[in-house]
Amino acid sequence: MGLRRVNAFSRSESREDPHPDLPSFVTRCSQGLQLPPGTAAITIDDGYRDAYEIAFPILVRYQLPATVFVVTDFVDRKAWLWTDKLRFVTARARASVFKAVIGDRTFNLEMTDAVSRFEAAARVNAALKLLPDDFKEETIVRIASSLGVELPEVPPAEMSSTTWSQLREMECAGLEIGSHTLTHPLLTKVADDRLSRELRESRARLESMLGHPVDQFCYPHGAYSARVREAVASAGYQCGVTTKRGLNGRQCDSLTLRRIHTEPDFPHFVQSASGAEDMKGKLRALVD
Ligand SMILES: [Zn+2]
Repeated sequence: MGLRRVNAFSRSESREDPHPDLPSFVTRCSQGLQLPPGTAAITIDDGYRDAYEIAFPILVRYQLPATVFVVTDFVDRKAWLWTDKLRFVTARARASVFKAVIGDRTFNLEMTDAVSRFEAAARVNAALKLLPDDFKEETIVRIASSLGVELPEVPPAEMSSTTWSQLREMECAGLEIGSHTLTHPLLTKVADDRLSRELRESRARLESMLGHPVDQFCYPHGAYSARVREAVASAGYQCGVTTKRGLNGRQCDSLTLRRIHTEPDFPHFVQSASGAEDMKGKLRALVD
């Protein structure tokens, strides 16, 4: 989130706190209490090191609370976030073109500069996203091998996570840490036993490393269903955030909260955060 966006958050006419942390936001909603106009809670997904190095100093400077959702195996240096693997491979491949076959789809991709290499990885990642984890992993290994790039066991520094001590430091400064699962799978595609493990073991790991209860959750890739929501509730989480775009009212479901993404351009961000996008959607639904 850029400085102009943070500045927009930190300006307020209201005497009430318009920037509660996520738990107080959820508590107020569940008690049916009126929220001050323009109330916003800030969330950061995945817990890459830039959450500590870039976002954290800005949030401290403007005294804004936020929740950072981390993938515990990623923090423990046991796993990559899978989408980074192909970014790593395409950035290091010597080839300038690349043909990827995924199921019955063939991608002929250019890799002539940093942007096209990033886009090549993004296109293949998008095609892999909904496929089973084993197939995803095999495909990534096959592509890495065909491009002559060796994938290290742990991510390189530029793709690494925050550390536990950085997370503790952020907590001491007023940020919250929530769970984003153990390994960042698409939860709608995993069996019940793995679903339970991803939710419960990540929570237990956070609680043991941070020394207090953790009850905030973020759905990887925003993917959820009634089954996944139920599992999140029974694992003990009090709130869950999705990638469904929009604002949350007093009647919102605390386990499937909507969010507003940061946008590349500031006017569009203001438009989204003001509720204008929500209003446009409602008007469109009335007309259709
Ligand atoms: Zn994520």
